[in-house]
Amino acid sequence: MSEPRRAANRLADSIDAAVAAIGPQLIAWRRDVHAHPELGNREVRTASIVAAHLRALGFDDVRTEVGVTGVVGLLRGALPGPVVALRADMDALPVEERVDVPFASKVRTTWNGEDVGVMHACGHDAHVAILMSVASVLAGLRGELRGAVKFIFQPAEEMPPAGEQGGARLMIEQGALEDPAPEAIFGLHVTSMLPTGVIGWRAGPAMASSDSFRITVRGRQTHGAMPWRGVDPIVTAAQVVLGLQTIVSRQVDLTHEPAVVTVGAIKGGVRENIIPDTVEMRGTIRTFDEAMRDDVHARVHDTAENIARAARAGCDVCVAKNYPVTINDSELTAAMLPTLERVAGAHRAVHMPKVAGSEDFSFYQHVVPGLFFFVGVTPPAQDVKTAAPNHSPLFFIDESGLPLGVRALANLAFDWLEAHAA
Ligand SMILES: [Zn+2]
Ligand SMILES: [Zn+2]
Repeated sequence: MSEPRRAANRLADSIDAAVAAIGPQLIAWRRDVHAHPELGNREVRTASIVAAHLRALGFDDVRTEVGVTGVVGLLRGALPGPVVALRADMDALPVEERVDVPFASKVRTTWNGEDVGVMHACGHDAHVAILMSVASVLAGLRGELRGAVKFIFQPAEEMPPAGEQGGARLMIEQGALEDPAPEAIFGLHVTSMLPTGVIGWRAGPAMASSDSFRITVRGRQTHGAMPWRGVDPIVTAAQVVLGLQTIVSRQVDLTHEPAVVTVGAIKGGVRENIIPDTVEMRGTIRTFDEAMRDDVHARVHDTAENIARAARAGCDVCVAKNYPVTINDSELTAAMLPTLERVAGAHRAVHMPKVAGSEDFSFYQHVVPGLFFFVGVTPPAQDVKTAAPNHSPLFFIDESGLPLGVRALANLAFDWLEAHAA
């Protein structure tokens, strides 16, 4: 076992003692938020608990309703220095919980017109509880703190309801990263992909961009027995689906970065002997490089439009840009890795493969250097390869893994401020 590379900071023992002391509260907060999950832009109860907590701690500023339900708190240390930001997302998912715990969610609501169960199936309940605990820990040590820590509790990471704005982008538009502006930002995600006690990190592109597309192929309706009397959008759509698959397999340089183009929904026609007017398909595009992202978008347009033209069909392609690539600033990652290695312990801060999922933490990273990392919550006895993943109705959090998240964020903030205070 090699020694962790960074010596403990001057407050390491105090931070550890404070994290141990807040432990029962951390679990209580997590269970309370878990039992009362709220969907994106509806985190009213969660946000009010967060805001009341930050105010009770004597924060210098607590702003609410930033980006609909977001909360931004500022904790100034007693000593002069720069500003660092920490972010937690607060929203749950339209998933019906199937985990057998006493605090399982029984909540139901209406989402985009449908009756759905609501569950913290992505673990944002843990993120809220972790960041509330970090607030307690650092507030207790503010006499020793240089500079200030900005706490960002963000709604709607999983996308707001149809027709609404929300999430990181809206919080930034509404000033979350201003007054004062942080010079670095840290965030974490609990994951089934790592066991309890392990931190996963990666420099550079770490999570994919996520964009959605909608393609409408417009043919001309006719009798199924006489296709020559119309234009068949079904056969054309089938060619478009296969054509789109050649973008990743034949056109982009996969040795540079991977990419994914998936058609996830296709709809057209009502019965066997009618060739319909239109077929509509929807899909998702994932990339790990912003230039590649734009290139793939252009190729989706070219492929669909030109295949349709060859069939003399019309074609409308709409690509909606959702989340950018989550890119961990290389310098910041290198500078803070020793902190992660120290808090996790030797060999327990592991280099992660890229994740094809996406994160709107990426929007903050477009404004300020940021580091987003993973904290394992799969019980040690379970195989991470078969553990129910985030978003599953069976996603389970080993709560004994949560204090490591508190220690990681508290020490990252403290170490960063120590290193950058003039
Ligand atoms: Zn999620
Ligand atoms: Zn998430």
